[in-house]
Amino acid sequence: MSKLNDMYQKLGIEKDVYEFSKKILDSLKDRFEAIDETAEYNQLKVLCAMQENRVSEADLKGSTGYGYDDLGRDRLERVYADVFGCEDALVRPQITCGTHAITLALFSNLRPGDELLYISGKPYDTLESVIGLRDSKGSFAEYGITYAQADLRDGGYIDEEKVRQKINERTRIVAIQRSKGYDTRRSLSVEEIGKAAQLVKSIKKDVLVFVDNCYGEFVERIEPSEAGADMMAGSLIKNPGGGLSAVGGYIAGKRECVENAAARLTSPGLGKEVGASLGMLPSFYQGFFMAPTVTASALKGAVFAAALYERLGFEVYPRADEKRTDIIQAVTLRSKEALLSFCKGIQSASAIDSFVSPTPSDMPGYDCEVVMAAGDFISGSSIELSADAPLKSPYNVYFQGGLTQFHAFAGIIKTLQCLADDKIIDRSALK
Ligand SMILES: *Cc1c(COP(=O)(O)O)cnc(C)c1O
Repeated sequence: MSKLNDMYQKLGIEKDVYEFSKKILDSLKDRFEAIDETAEYNQLKVLCAMQENRVSEADLKGSTGYGYDDLGRDRLERVYADVFGCEDALVRPQITCGTHAITLALFSNLRPGDELLYISGKPYDTLESVIGLRDSKGSFAEYGITYAQADLRDGGYIDEEKVRQKINERTRIVAIQRSKGYDTRRSLSVEEIGKAAQLVKSIKKDVLVFVDNCYGEFVERIEPSEAGADMMAGSLIKNPGGGLSAVGGYIAGKRECVENAAARLTSPGLGKEVGASLGMLPSFYQGFFMAPTVTASALKGAVFAAALYERLGFEVYPRADEKRTDIIQAVTLRSKEALLSFCKGIQSASAIDSFVSPTPSDMPGYDCEVVMAAGDFISGSSIELSADAPLKSPYNVYFQGGLTQFHAFAGIIKTLQCLADDKIIDRSALK
């Protein structure tokens, strides 16, 4: 039992499925090498920032209670700011998730009477309640903060003309969502975001450009904050947590923006000075240190999934050979059976809960049932191998994560095995 395909067989993967998958993996060598080069660059970027900030063993200790004089927490925020090329950062376990980080960044930098303008089309689902597009307590709408939107133009690019039309005297923040999230639009590259930021500033100087950076960190060599964005936010149970951070979010950008966010997260007057890091700092530091290679693993899994399903004749977003700026891969599976089969494959390839069957259920914020597959070490962590799919036509599955490339590959191969077992794809296609 020392052969690789014996191990795959043990995992329930049959010879033809393995060999078909292996051929595709072999064809992606150059692609993977380019991903590794970016990971290598970003690894050094993080390493240098930790060294330059003289991170020491004592910084990992953490604090309790008010969290005054938590030097390790403060230093971690310096490391984030340096890696993201900006003035300051807020990196806290008290930021509960990505939606919270985004809400905090926006709410703290908007005042009643201001307008928020999204120029990347409809924002991520959970933000509809935050903005007040859906009736909800405490929304921006309740505070007299209005919302406008410039949809992407054909092909999925930022629409300059619409941006010009929508910016008015009340526009205070222009927001851009880098990743497509759970949508099949294009994700927006850091270069495009930089150009959009320039455009926005040329139209109105005192506007803040905000980027929802979820799923984007470390996919490219620079981040939106290095390309002209004033602030950005993300979740530590996605890329920058490296799979180790058990909770948390970050906001990074201009000092004043981060100060405003801190004043809202804790209290005016207290700001960044309080907020115990508890026992989180070792995993925050180590996770950030691991994040470039973990992100690379997830990215290789995404490229592999795209190549494999493209070869089998499915629509994939982005296509296998497209440049990437986030880790999400969408595949249009065209039937409910295929979706469930794919998700069964991901679930059964997990290290945790591999024996449970993902079943569709109603979720708040969705207009149909959703099926989610994940066997996470950290609950809901989508930098880990996972798939989500709303049960509606055209039956798109959104696949992401994989703490190691080999786990990501095994997960995708397992989805193919399930689709073959369930006779959704014809085995002769694997020849
Ligand atoms: C995940 C995600 C969010 C929200 O993060 P949660 O941690 O799920 O609240 C927002 N925007 C994008 C693009 C995301 O991918």
